[in-house]
Amino acid sequence: MHADIVLLPGDGIGPEVVAGAVAVLQAVAERHGHQFTFHEHDIGGIAIDRHGEPLPAATLAACRQADAVLLGAVGGPKWSDPNAKVRPEQGLLAIRKALGLYANLRPVKPHAAALDAAPIKPHLLTGVDMIVVRELTGGIYFGDKTRTAADASDLCRYSVVEIERVMRTAFRLAQRRRGHVTSVDKANVLETSRLWRDVAARIGREEFPDVRLEHQLVDSMAMHLLSRPRDYDVVVTENMFGDILTDEASMLAGSLGLLPSASLGEGKVGLYEPIHGSAPDIADKGIANPYATILSTALLLRHSLGLEQEAQCVEQSVSDALDARAFTADLVAHGVAPLSTQQASVGIVQRIRERSAVSELRD
Ligand code: NAD
Repeated sequence: MHADIVLLPGDGIGPEVVAGAVAVLQAVAERHGHQFTFHEHDIGGIAIDRHGEPLPAATLAACRQADAVLLGAVGGPKWSDPNAKVRPEQGLLAIRKALGLYANLRPVKPHAAALDAAPIKPHLLTGVDMIVVRELTGGIYFGDKTRTAADASDLCRYSVVEIERVMRTAFRLAQRRRGHVTSVDKANVLETSRLWRDVAARIGREEFPDVRLEHQLVDSMAMHLLSRPRDYDVVVTENMFGDILTDEASMLAGSLGLLPSASLGEGKVGLYEPIHGSAPDIADKGIANPYATILSTALLLRHSLGLEQEAQCVEQSVSDALDARAFTADLVAHGVAPLSTQQASVGIVQRIRERSAVSELRD
């Protein structure tokens, strides 16, 4: 197949990890007979520097035309003045909103070889396999904001339609998995959460009676995520709770550098990115873990291009690399030499070539 893929490397470690992921996509295309055309554009801090705005019109136009978008990360100390009118993160919020990407899927499945890197006891992590669905275009991040010398406010608002559509995404995923949805809210305090809970219950009862639905308050969820993570299948929650809980969940996997994400809406284009940020503390050192971005390409192949076999090939190659302890610095045990970003990426490319060659021999 032919696919147009827009690359938005962004800031900090973004360009380093996207370069590795592009090499992986090229290897997939080569070995499976596809043609992927890449179009690189600016977003975030680099876009502010070059164009004066975090999401230039040309970037958005290219994304609208594309089959899929692969993003690195945005932000960094250079653009973090709290009083600045334009900030890199505005580009990210704007692109999600403009493309109607309301559901952010974040799978969390700790790999056995990386359990030592997790700060949680390994016996709690064995068998953990969950996917967090975070609502992405509503809630407090998008509400009206005010600031005076004396106070500040951020409005949190959700409509029934916004909750219904992300709920359906979560329930449909659960039907293909273990049939269990946990809806996370703060219904004991927040009116938006009471609406969230009512809509979740109605959608579950009327449209997905085969799926078990439970409600969980966000504060106790933060605790259960660490004490009994195995109990969760699909977790669905609003924008800010999902942002925080998925960073927490990343610790189950051992490193932020292992968790991919897919942002999907009703349209054909999806946006794929690692859940981590631009990691300014390690930028330009060539030591960032590229696996989260490489695993994001697997989600891209699956959800935007419908290439399930190729997606599994990428996921299996990363899994094999972890089995072989092909670790970057964030995962490596003390005293062992870690791989660079480039070495880790090249390792996955080689595994994809080898896997494809082996399956050709079998055929
Ligand atoms: P971060 O995710 O960038 O980094 C948190 C910690 O994890 C750092 O110690 C970092 O070195 C480490 N880390 C992250 N990714 C890694 C990788 N691939 N390999 C190895 N280590 C990795 O979060 P932060 O420090 O809170 O934010 C830094 C900047 O990134 C801020 O400007 C923030 O706004 C931005 N940010 C952007 C996104 C995004 O683009 N989607 C998401 C979160 C934060």
